[in-house]
Amino acid sequence: MLYLRRSASGVQGLSDVPPSHPRYASLLTREKVVEGVELGITGLNGLIAQGRGEALDYLLGEKTTPPAMEAERAAAAMLLLAERPILSVNGNAAALVPAEMVALARKVGAPLEVNIFYRTEERVKRIADLLRSLGAERVYGEEPDALIPGLDHARAKAARGGIFDADVVFVPLEDGDRCEALVRMNKRVITVDLNPLSRTARTATVTIVDNVVRALPNLVSLVEEMAGQDEAELQSILERYDNISVLRRSVEEMISHLSDQFSALEG
Ligand code: ATP
Repeated sequence: MLYLRRSASGVQGLSDVPPSHPRYASLLTREKVVEGVELGITGLNGLIAQGRGEALDYLLGEKTTPPAMEAERAAAAMLLLAERPILSVNGNAAALVPAEMVALARKVGAPLEVNIFYRTEERVKRIADLLRSLGAERVYGEEPDALIPGLDHARAKAARGGIFDADVVFVPLEDGDRCEALVRMNKRVITVDLNPLSRTARTATVTIVDNVVRALPNLVSLVEEMAGQDEAELQSILERYDNISVLRRSVEEMISHLSDQFSALEG
Protein backbone atom coordinates (compact mmCIF):
# COMPACT_ATOMS: atom_id res chain seq x y z
CA MET A 1 0.00 0.00 0.00
CA LEU A 2 1.10 3.54 -0.75
CA TYR A 3 3.13 5.05 2.11
CA LEU A 4 3.75 1.70 3.78
CA ARG A 5 6.23 0.08 1.45
CA ARG A 6 9.96 0.38 1.19
CA SER A 7 10.54 3.18 -1.25
CA ALA A 8 12.14 2.40 -4.60
CA SER A 9 14.68 5.16 -3.98
CA GLY A 10 16.11 3.11 -1.12
CA VAL A 11 14.98 5.66 1.44
CA GLN A 12 13.78 3.94 4.57
CA GLY A 13 10.07 3.17 4.21
CA LEU A 14 7.54 3.68 7.00
CA SER A 15 7.18 -0.07 7.42
CA ASP A 16 10.53 0.15 9.22
CA VAL A 17 9.44 2.78 11.72
CA PRO A 18 7.06 1.93 14.60
CA PRO A 19 4.16 4.38 15.11
CA SER A 20 5.45 4.88 18.67
CA HIS A 21 8.59 6.51 17.25
CA PRO A 22 8.69 10.11 18.59
CA ARG A 23 9.19 11.49 15.07
CA TYR A 24 6.73 9.15 13.35
CA ALA A 25 4.38 11.88 12.04
CA SER A 26 7.29 13.86 10.63
CA LEU A 27 8.84 10.76 9.04
CA LEU A 28 5.49 9.77 7.54
CA THR A 29 5.16 13.22 5.96
CA ARG A 30 8.70 13.00 4.55
CA GLU A 31 7.99 9.55 3.14
CA LYS A 32 4.82 10.77 1.42
CA VAL A 33 6.77 13.50 -0.38
CA VAL A 34 9.44 10.98 -1.44
CA GLU A 35 6.70 8.76 -2.82
CA GLY A 36 5.16 11.75 -4.57
CA VAL A 37 8.46 12.19 -6.41
CA GLU A 38 8.62 8.48 -7.27
CA LEU A 39 5.08 8.58 -8.62
CA GLY A 40 5.84 11.61 -10.80
CA ILE A 41 3.47 13.86 -8.82
CA THR A 42 6.01 15.96 -6.94
CA GLY A 43 9.05 17.67 -8.48
CA LEU A 44 12.53 17.10 -7.06
CA ASN A 45 12.55 20.64 -5.70
CA GLY A 46 9.54 19.57 -3.62
CA LEU A 47 11.96 17.58 -1.46
CA ILE A 48 13.89 20.76 -0.69
CA ALA A 49 10.71 22.64 0.18
CA GLN A 50 9.68 19.77 2.45
CA GLY A 51 13.05 19.88 4.22
CA ARG A 52 12.68 23.59 4.83
CA GLY A 53 9.15 23.09 6.10
CA GLU A 54 10.23 20.25 8.38
CA ALA A 55 12.91 22.41 10.02
CA LEU A 56 10.41 25.20 10.66
CA ASP A 57 7.81 22.76 11.97
CA TYR A 58 10.42 21.51 14.42
CA LEU A 59 10.82 25.06 15.71
CA LEU A 60 7.05 25.36 16.03
CA GLY A 61 6.82 22.17 18.12
CA GLU A 62 4.99 20.25 15.35
CA LYS A 63 1.59 21.38 16.58
CA THR A 64 -1.21 23.70 15.52
CA THR A 65 -0.63 26.84 17.57
CA PRO A 66 -3.34 29.31 18.69
CA PRO A 67 -2.43 31.85 15.95
CA ALA A 68 -2.54 29.07 13.34
CA MET A 69 -5.99 28.05 14.59
CA GLU A 70 -7.11 31.68 14.37
CA ALA A 71 -5.89 31.84 10.75
CA GLU A 72 -7.60 28.53 9.97
CA ARG A 73 -10.89 29.90 11.35
CA ALA A 74 -10.53 33.06 9.23
CA ALA A 75 -9.68 30.93 6.17
CA ALA A 76 -12.79 28.80 6.71
CA ALA A 77 -14.93 31.95 7.00
CA MET A 78 -13.35 33.43 3.86
CA LEU A 79 -13.93 30.24 1.85
CA LEU A 80 -17.54 29.99 3.02
CA LEU A 81 -18.20 33.62 2.08
CA ALA A 82 -16.43 33.46 -1.28
CA GLU A 83 -18.39 33.82 -4.51
CA ARG A 84 -15.86 32.05 -6.72
CA PRO A 85 -13.42 30.16 -4.49
CA ILE A 86 -10.69 27.94 -5.95
CA LEU A 87 -8.27 25.50 -4.33
CA SER A 88 -4.84 25.38 -5.95
CA VAL A 89 -2.88 22.13 -5.76
CA ASN A 90 0.88 21.83 -6.25
CA GLY A 91 3.09 18.75 -6.19
CA ASN A 92 3.68 18.75 -2.43
CA ALA A 93 0.01 19.27 -1.58
CA ALA A 94 -0.86 16.45 -4.00
CA ALA A 95 1.57 14.13 -2.21
CA LEU A 96 0.58 15.12 1.32
CA VAL A 97 -3.12 16.00 1.41
CA PRO A 98 -4.88 15.10 -1.85
CA ALA A 99 -7.99 13.60 -0.24
CA GLU A 100 -8.32 16.51 2.18
CA MET A 101 -8.04 19.04 -0.67
CA VAL A 102 -10.84 17.22 -2.50
CA ALA A 103 -12.95 17.07 0.69
CA LEU A 104 -12.46 20.80 1.32
CA ALA A 105 -13.34 21.61 -2.30
CA ARG A 106 -16.60 19.69 -2.01
CA LYS A 107 -17.54 21.32 1.29
CA VAL A 108 -17.06 24.88 0.02
CA GLY A 109 -18.32 24.16 -3.50
CA ALA A 110 -15.00 25.07 -5.12
CA PRO A 111 -13.16 23.59 -8.07
CA LEU A 112 -9.50 22.60 -7.83
CA GLU A 113 -6.70 23.80 -10.10
CA VAL A 114 -3.35 22.11 -10.57
CA ASN A 115 -0.76 24.86 -10.32
CA ILE A 116 2.85 23.72 -10.21
CA PHE A 117 6.04 25.74 -10.17
CA TYR A 118 8.13 23.59 -12.52
CA ARG A 119 5.37 22.77 -14.99
CA THR A 120 5.38 19.65 -17.11
CA GLU A 121 2.18 18.57 -18.83
CA GLU A 122 2.72 15.01 -17.64
CA ARG A 123 2.95 16.00 -13.99
CA VAL A 124 -0.11 18.25 -14.26
CA LYS A 125 -2.09 15.35 -15.72
CA ARG A 126 -0.93 12.93 -13.02
CA ILE A 127 -2.02 15.31 -10.27
CA ALA A 128 -5.36 16.01 -11.99
CA ASP A 129 -5.97 12.26 -12.39
CA LEU A 130 -5.13 11.68 -8.73
CA LEU A 131 -7.62 14.36 -7.63
CA ARG A 132 -10.33 12.95 -9.92
CA SER A 133 -9.67 9.43 -8.59
CA LEU A 134 -10.35 10.83 -5.11
CA GLY A 135 -13.73 12.22 -6.17
CA ALA A 136 -12.91 15.73 -7.42
CA GLU A 137 -15.63 16.91 -9.77
CA ARG A 138 -14.02 19.97 -11.38
CA VAL A 139 -10.27 20.05 -11.90
CA TYR A 140 -8.64 22.89 -13.86
CA GLY A 141 -5.03 23.24 -14.91
CA GLU A 142 -4.56 20.86 -17.82
CA GLU A 143 -5.63 23.44 -20.39
CA PRO A 144 -4.68 26.86 -19.09
CA ASP A 145 -6.21 29.63 -21.20
CA ALA A 146 -5.14 32.79 -19.38
CA LEU A 147 -1.99 34.41 -18.03
CA ILE A 148 -1.56 36.02 -14.61
CA PRO A 149 -0.07 39.48 -15.26
CA GLY A 150 3.46 40.17 -14.04
CA LEU A 151 4.84 36.61 -14.16
CA ASP A 152 6.96 34.93 -16.81
CA HIS A 153 4.96 32.85 -19.28
CA ALA A 154 5.44 29.36 -17.76
CA ARG A 155 4.54 30.50 -14.24
CA ALA A 156 1.71 32.76 -15.37
CA LYS A 157 -0.51 30.02 -16.79
CA ALA A 158 -3.95 29.84 -15.21
CA ALA A 159 -7.46 28.79 -16.13
CA ARG A 160 -10.51 30.95 -16.75
CA GLY A 161 -13.25 29.71 -14.45
CA GLY A 162 -10.45 28.67 -12.08
CA ILE A 163 -7.67 30.72 -10.50
CA PHE A 164 -7.88 33.47 -13.11
CA ASP A 165 -11.50 34.37 -12.26
CA ALA A 166 -11.58 33.45 -8.58
CA ASP A 167 -12.24 35.96 -5.81
CA VAL A 168 -10.65 33.75 -3.11
CA VAL A 169 -7.66 31.52 -3.86
CA PHE A 170 -6.61 28.87 -1.36
CA VAL A 171 -3.04 28.14 -2.34
CA PRO A 172 -0.96 26.17 0.17
CA LEU A 173 2.85 26.24 -0.23
CA GLU A 174 2.84 28.97 -2.89
CA ASP A 175 5.85 30.77 -4.31
CA GLY A 176 6.22 34.42 -3.26
CA ASP A 177 6.09 35.90 -6.78
CA ARG A 178 2.87 34.18 -7.69
CA CYS A 179 1.26 35.03 -4.38
CA GLU A 180 2.14 38.70 -4.93
CA ALA A 181 0.76 38.54 -8.49
CA LEU A 182 -2.55 37.08 -7.29
CA VAL A 183 -2.90 39.78 -4.62
CA ARG A 184 -2.18 42.43 -7.30
CA MET A 185 -5.17 41.01 -9.20
CA ASN A 186 -7.24 41.93 -6.10
CA LYS A 187 -7.83 38.35 -5.13
CA ARG A 188 -7.94 37.34 -1.50
CA VAL A 189 -5.25 34.73 -0.99
CA ILE A 190 -5.18 32.11 1.75
CA THR A 191 -1.92 30.22 2.12
CA VAL A 192 -0.41 27.56 4.36
CA ASP A 193 3.29 28.18 4.94
CA LEU A 194 5.44 27.09 7.86
CA ASN A 195 7.76 30.02 7.22
CA PRO A 196 6.11 33.08 8.83
CA LEU A 197 8.68 35.33 7.15
CA SER A 198 8.45 34.09 3.55
CA ARG A 199 7.24 36.56 0.94
CA THR A 200 4.16 34.40 0.50
CA ALA A 201 3.42 34.51 4.23
CA ARG A 202 3.83 38.29 4.34
CA THR A 203 1.82 38.94 1.18
CA ALA A 204 -1.18 36.64 1.57
CA THR A 205 -4.46 37.86 3.03
CA VAL A 206 -4.59 34.94 5.48
CA THR A 207 -1.43 32.97 6.31
CA ILE A 208 -1.77 29.71 8.17
CA VAL A 209 1.60 28.97 9.78
CA ASP A 210 1.02 25.26 10.20
CA ASN A 211 1.95 22.04 8.46
CA VAL A 212 -0.47 21.26 5.60
CA VAL A 213 -0.93 17.80 7.08
CA ARG A 214 -2.49 19.40 10.17
CA ALA A 215 -4.03 22.48 8.53
CA LEU A 216 -6.13 20.63 5.94
CA PRO A 217 -7.97 18.28 8.35
CA ASN A 218 -8.54 21.30 10.64
CA LEU A 219 -9.99 23.31 7.74
CA VAL A 220 -12.31 20.49 6.69
CA SER A 221 -13.67 20.27 10.28
CA LEU A 222 -13.95 24.06 10.65
CA VAL A 223 -15.83 24.46 7.38
CA GLU A 224 -18.25 21.73 8.50
CA GLU A 225 -18.71 23.36 11.90
CA MET A 226 -19.07 26.92 10.56
CA ALA A 227 -21.26 26.20 7.52
CA GLY A 228 -24.38 26.86 9.62
CA GLN A 229 -23.25 30.30 10.81
CA ASP A 230 -24.89 33.31 9.25
CA GLU A 231 -22.99 35.63 6.92
CA ALA A 232 -22.72 38.43 9.46
CA GLU A 233 -20.97 36.15 11.94
CA LEU A 234 -18.51 34.93 9.30
CA GLN A 235 -17.93 38.51 8.17
CA SER A 236 -17.15 39.61 11.71
CA ILE A 237 -14.48 36.86 12.02
CA LEU A 238 -12.81 38.37 8.93
CA GLU A 239 -13.13 41.94 10.16
CA ARG A 240 -11.38 41.06 13.42
CA TYR A 241 -8.62 39.10 11.69
CA ASP A 242 -5.12 40.65 11.58
CA ASN A 243 -2.60 38.69 9.49
CA ILE A 244 0.49 40.59 10.65
CA SER A 245 -0.41 39.90 14.28
CA VAL A 246 -0.85 36.20 13.41
CA LEU A 247 2.61 36.14 11.80
CA ARG A 248 4.19 37.89 14.79
CA ARG A 249 2.55 35.50 17.24
CA SER A 250 3.65 32.52 15.13
CA VAL A 251 7.27 33.70 15.41
CA GLU A 252 6.77 34.15 19.16
CA GLU A 253 5.42 30.58 19.37
CA MET A 254 8.66 29.35 17.79
CA ILE A 255 10.81 31.38 20.18
CA SER A 256 8.93 30.24 23.26
CA HIS A 257 8.97 26.61 22.11
CA LEU A 258 12.75 26.77 21.70
CA SER A 259 13.14 28.47 25.05
CA ASP A 260 11.00 25.77 26.73
CA GLN A 261 13.21 23.10 25.17
CA PHE A 262 16.26 24.67 26.75
CA SER A 263 14.56 25.08 30.12
CA ALA A 264 13.73 21.38 30.05
CA LEU A 265 17.39 20.56 29.28
CA GLU A 266 18.65 22.75 32.07
CA GLY A 267 16.27 20.99 34.45
P1 ATP B 1 8.89 32.73 -0.81
O1 ATP B 1 9.07 32.66 -2.32
O2 ATP B 1 7.44 32.75 -0.40
O3 ATP B 1 9.67 33.79 -0.09
P2 ATP B 1 10.34 30.19 -0.62
O4 ATP B 1 11.02 30.44 -1.91
O5 ATP B 1 11.14 29.81 0.58
O6 ATP B 1 9.43 31.41 -0.15
P3 ATP B 1 8.90 27.99 -1.80
O7 ATP B 1 10.01 27.04 -1.96
O8 ATP B 1 8.32 28.61 -3.01
O9 ATP B 1 9.21 29.12 -0.76
O10 ATP B 1 7.70 27.32 -1.00
C1 ATP B 1 7.89 26.42 0.00
C2 ATP B 1 7.38 26.98 1.32
O11 ATP B 1 6.52 26.00 1.86
C3 ATP B 1 8.52 27.18 2.32
O12 ATP B 1 8.33 28.38 3.02
C4 ATP B 1 8.36 26.00 3.31
O13 ATP B 1 8.69 26.36 4.62
C5 ATP B 1 6.88 25.72 3.21
N1 ATP B 1 6.55 24.30 3.46
C6 ATP B 1 7.19 23.19 3.01
N2 ATP B 1 6.57 22.06 3.40
C7 ATP B 1 5.48 22.46 4.12
C8 ATP B 1 4.43 21.77 4.76
N3 ATP B 1 4.38 20.43 4.79
N4 ATP B 1 3.47 22.51 5.38
C9 ATP B 1 3.50 23.86 5.37
N5 ATP B 1 4.48 24.58 4.79
C10 ATP B 1 5.47 23.90 4.15
